[in-house]
Amino acid sequence: FITVENICKTFSRNDKQNTEVLKGISFQVNQGECLGIVGESGSGKSTLARIMLGLIPATDGKIIINGKEQKGIRLGSQMVFQNPNESFNPRKTIGYGVGEGLKNKGVPQDKIDEKIDYLFDMCGLQRELKNKYPHQISGGQCQRAAIARALAMNPDILICDEATSALDATVQKQVIELLQELRRKQNITIIFISHNMALVEMFCDRAILIENGTTKRTFGPT
Ligand code: ATP
Ligand code: MG
Repeated sequence: FITVENICKTFSRNDKQNTEVLKGISFQVNQGECLGIVGESGSGKSTLARIMLGLIPATDGKIIINGKEQKGIRLGSQMVFQNPNESFNPRKTIGYGVGEGLKNKGVPQDKIDEKIDYLFDMCGLQRELKNKYPHQISGGQCQRAAIARALAMNPDILICDEATSALDATVQKQVIELLQELRRKQNITIIFISHNMALVEMFCDRAILIENGTTKRTFGPT
């Protein structure tokens, strides 16, 4: 389904002190699977996620989807960002943010409103929160809203970058349950990025560990 082959990323700096973050990352993701990506802070997980989405270019390597080489998996994929500020514009309401992608696709407003209500219900968000601004809702609500925003586009692949890390254990569990339900209902492929190995072992079918810029070790079937 998705093959990531020898992805390398070096951030260049003016003083020629380049940082080589990824030195050859290779793995595969199967349709409907939940793949965990773990690694210490600074190991390059978010960088890899951005490359996979096509938001930033890789220095080297390939991403092959259904046999075709692509820049990123952007088409049909959505990301729940580590920092909710990356998902929501502070000057727009949460409801606007969740429906924004549909609006850009030219979906009529009444259809968008319908879909927003549906997504809010599904993600366990009170509908009143639609008219609130990002700073007026809690971290957990914001993460759920970020998931709702991603789901609005009916993605085949959902990349969750530390989607639950900022949350307390109870809310974290609720968000995980929401993701599990999505897998059951929609057979969505999830790439779950986290530094919490225990959580990954519990939630994912399989995981890879990024260490020193390479894929070091995995658990589960390969
Ligand atoms: P965390 O678990 O803390 O989220 P991470 O594994 O997601 O960490 P990244 O955010 O991918 O790590 O960062 C990996 C390394 O790349 C870090 O050393 C970081 O400083 C560097 N880096 C990330 N983005 C850039 C950038 N735009 N320019 C230069 N260096 C960057
Ligand atoms: Mg990160």
